[in-house]
Amino acid sequence: MSAQLIDGKAIAADVRRSVGERVAELKESGIQPCLAVMLVGENPASRVYVGMKQRAADEVGIRTVDERLSPDTSQEDILAILEDWNADPGVHGILVQLPLPDQIDERTVMERIRPEKDVDGFHPINVGRMTSGDPDAFRPCTPAGVQVMLEHIGYDPSGRHAVIVGRSNIVGRPMAAILSQKGPYANATVTMAHSRTADLGAITRQAELLIVAVGRPESVTADMVSEGTVVVDVGVNRVDDPSRPKGYRLVGDVAFDEVAEKASWITPVPGGVGPMTIAMLLSNTATAAARLGGA
Ligand code: NDP
Repeated sequence: MSAQLIDGKAIAADVRRSVGERVAELKESGIQPCLAVMLVGENPASRVYVGMKQRAADEVGIRTVDERLSPDTSQEDILAILEDWNADPGVHGILVQLPLPDQIDERTVMERIRPEKDVDGFHPINVGRMTSGDPDAFRPCTPAGVQVMLEHIGYDPSGRHAVIVGRSNIVGRPMAAILSQKGPYANATVTMAHSRTADLGAITRQAELLIVAVGRPESVTADMVSEGTVVVDVGVNRVDDPSRPKGYRLVGDVAFDEVAEKASWITPVPGGVGPMTIAMLLSNTATAAARLGGA
């Protein structure tokens, strides 16, 4: 492997350390930061993610409250809980773990969260504020975490061609908004590719910075990447592997071994973007607590 590894675990640990310091200061001034977490249904991956987020919050001194609701919970019940949390001065951040069951309209739920407590950055007010360049808007945690990673390795995307593969509202689209903004560690020229992109390889080979968030295991191969590219792999996919105790292993959207031969920097999976997402959630929660205080 010739690429240098972007160590998401180590960078996330740095972010968590600084969040811990901010939380300690808030506590000294009488504010106990608190994140409220809602999980609806039994999705095993969601349960794992929620558990990880709660443990990480606990480690930096953020209190969590949670509602674990059955898969047949009504939308009205969900909205009523959100209204309670919106009004509760002891709750600073609200997280609704996605996906939600089919009977629930995700958009209605996201729009009910008070924007000042929307630490996931999915409320349309925060999306609009972020897109229009407001530095104080909550940013979605995964793309915000990718930008922090670039900063940590000293890679300034200013003036570079960044290609983002994927246009979801939680990763690809906000990633494009963040990297194309006027501001530090941004100012990139951004291309956003997706499933209808013709000749994806011809586009990805133009990338100086390539960010992949597709959800297709190891689908970006060495022939799609130019020498010296900085490669950030957001994908997390389970693939069968009978040699592992659990019967599977996690891989990204990028064929790591072969792409690492050409990239200048590359994120591993696991241990890359994943830990950053959680660290940024904690950071947003500390920010919300500082802004809201006990109000
Ligand atoms: P979505 O399924 O919402 O979006 C996937 C995107 O990839 C879509 O825009 C889709 O295009 C595009 N796409 C699908 N197939 C192709 C293809 N063959 N060529 C080009 N583009 C394609 O996924 P998410 O954005 O939510 O997640 C992407 C990956 O990132 C997943 O593996 C997920 O698990 C992971 N993830 C990891 C996080 C972390 O913390 N590490 C956080 C969030 C996600 P179209 O719009 O046309 O359908």
